[in-house]
Amino acid sequence: MSKYLRERQKELIKEVPSLKGVIRGTLREVYAPCGKRNCRCKKGFLHGPYYYLAVRTKGKTKMYYLPHPSLGKKAKKAIAQYNKLWNLFCKISEINIKLLKEEKR
Ligand SMILES: [Zn+2]
Repeated sequence: MSKYLRERQKELIKEVPSLKGVIRGTLREVYAPCGKRNCRCKKGFLHGPYYYLAVRTKGKTKMYYLPHPSLGKKAKKAIAQYNKLWNLFCKISEINIKLLKEEKR
């Protein structure tokens, strides 16, 4: 059993992506009206999308404005990397618990 677990652990560790571009947060697409009086947005055609990164830490959410749509795309990828990393952490942790329980005293 533990031989199989060690093999599986090795495979999962190999899958861990680089931390370089990882971002923890949620991407928010915002559409909003402007301040001009006769603008199309007053008829419901809102401006946008504007991209924000919402990052929740200790119960507080901080919003980071991304000034260009291409940054929204990059952020999306970085968040996907984070989610992949997190899933791997959880799987590896489960294996490590099983291995710990199999350890002989
Ligand atoms: Zn407007």
